[in-house]
Amino acid sequence: MAQILDGVAVRNEILARLKPRVARLRRPPGLAVVLVGHNPASEIYVRSKIKACAELGVFSEKLSPPETVTTAEMLELIADLNRRPEIDGILVQMPLPPPVDTRRVLEAVAPGKDADGFHPYNVGLMVAGRPAPKACTPAGIIEMLKHYRIPMDGRRAVVVGRSDIVGKPMALMLLHENATVTICHSRTQQLDEECRRADILIAAIGRAALVTSSFIAPGAVVIDVGMNRITDRTHADSLGRAEEFDRKGSALVGDVHPVDVARAAGAYTPVPGGVGPLTIAMLMANTVALAEQRQAT
Ligand code: NAP
Repeated sequence: MAQILDGVAVRNEILARLKPRVARLRRPPGLAVVLVGHNPASEIYVRSKIKACAELGVFSEKLSPPETVTTAEMLELIADLNRRPEIDGILVQMPLPPPVDTRRVLEAVAPGKDADGFHPYNVGLMVAGRPAPKACTPAGIIEMLKHYRIPMDGRRAVVVGRSDIVGKPMALMLLHENATVTICHSRTQQLDEECRRADILIAAIGRAALVTSSFIAPGAVVIDVGMNRITDRTHADSLGRAEEFDRKGSALVGDVHPVDVARAAGAYTPVPGGVGPLTIAMLMANTVALAEQRQAT
């Protein structure tokens, strides 16, 4: 039987380790969350982030510019947050509406307040192996692998996906843990063969159940980052999710086939309940670390 890697348990442990650090600060850490418009998925994510702040004793402030906001107005808003002393971390919820220049907005966040670890300056520090706020999802996955004492040193890791927020930082973090890392993407030939070489397989693709049993070496550790909503009942049924579909009208599945992975892997993260909870926990970790740094100076 494959071991299920429980993201909620790891999240709880991360938050428990942060609590005494928050208590030692002179004032609560402060996180500003900027949510433009009314994207329903973004609204759910932001609500969960604000709830996590409340649980941990982090001050949070939500700013909700309208869908019609301009790049200039966003830059002004960020500049104001950069100046405010009680704000330690700034998070701009993605995606921004297309007319807004996302790159300029993200680069306007002061690197010392970059709660998401997306600023090129912090990415550079991370590449160089120096302390910096790190992209939350891959950083959470490293915490999970450590929590379950899954060896990375000398192991073969394959990361499918090369986005700036998951795939690329994931590959670098695994490299820093001394894994031998391969990065795959949409142009990779014989993807299944590449994946089958992995002791640790990370799927960050955004394609429901693309990774099937032929991609998984017997006993491999499989981390499923994907979050894909299935709206077709037959498809949901083929993935063993008919019951969820009938209850909710859709089913949430990862990039890894949920039935195959349970049969082939040695350990795996379920969807939901695997990687998802870690991302918010690491956002809290980045915010607390930024507050500690600012209060130390
Ligand atoms: P993204 O920016 O769309 O990147 C997807 C990557 O997958 C790209 O590098 C793409 O290759 C590659 N890819 C697409 N189709 C492929 C195929 N058929 N074969 C091989 N590679 C393929 O997505 P992302 O932001 O990294 O997110 C990936 C997934 O993780 C999504 O489902 C997202 O919802 C989920 N996610 C979850 C969390 C969480 O907290 N659980 C956090 C972030 C993201 P190219 O570069 O060649 O196009």
